[in-house]
Amino acid sequence: MSIRPLIGAHVSTAGGLYRAIGNGELIGAETIQIFGSSPQQWLTRMPSPADIADFKKHLAASRIQAVYLHASYLVNLASPVKLNWDKSVKSLIEHLKIAELIGADGLIFHVGSKGESDREDAIKRVTEGMRLVLKDASGKAKLVLENSAGGGNKIGNIPEDIGEILQALDSPRAAVCLDTAHAFEAGQIEAYTPLLVKKFFDHWDKHIGLKNIVALHANDSMTKFDSHHDRHENIGKGFIGLDGFKALAKEQRIAHAAWLLEVPGLAGLGPDKANVEILKSCFE
Ligand SMILES: [Zn+2]
Repeated sequence: MSIRPLIGAHVSTAGGLYRAIGNGELIGAETIQIFGSSPQQWLTRMPSPADIADFKKHLAASRIQAVYLHASYLVNLASPVKLNWDKSVKSLIEHLKIAELIGADGLIFHVGSKGESDREDAIKRVTEGMRLVLKDASGKAKLVLENSAGGGNKIGNIPEDIGEILQALDSPRAAVCLDTAHAFEAGQIEAYTPLLVKKFFDHWDKHIGLKNIVALHANDSMTKFDSHHDRHENIGKGFIGLDGFKALAKEQRIAHAAWLLEVPGLAGLGPDKANVEILKSCFE
């Protein structure tokens, strides 16, 4: 018998962290992703004890079974600029502490951009940064590397980069989030056909170990294969298409991961019930 993964989406915390639970339930989410603090800022607002208690209370009473935080967009552990790297480490420590406080499963962040620097050095900086973050923010919550679309000197677009980092860290708390749009835009998979899906995951398995994929960002792509342009589209409306998601749904090696939508939504207000239902229907 085939297993269906938890399906959910990135949802808003406007008005309080606990609001994310209701927002997720409204669209039929079984798992959610949220920003623990503002994603456009270096400054982290830590939740109060009341914020934490409210969140946990609502979560326990809900059908939501996995929660992931997404880090600030400013974070770049691959940065050759020491000040940015320092700020990135500090921000990730604070956000991972929030994840731990509210009982979330992990914190997802973008591997980063190396600028004009050497790839090997950039990978060393990411590894060292993650090591510090994991040491400072102790607990169970995982620190999760997300693959990139590859534009703008970004690293983490290929499984070799992520695999090297995981290997060097050798930590049970280091994990991977695979974004379906980024993989397509990065030129990693030309079409999500059953054959290419199998090949793609065979390849990624070799480098990162598919068991390390704890989350999957289920996004269609507004831009073409190998475009290196990161633009998400509603499920079935982009270049991946509904058949692509149906092929992904059959890949049991990623059924243990939490599938999270980060799509614009039909009304442009973010992931909605329609997209959640379309994704669920791919498993029927
Ligand atoms: Zn993503």
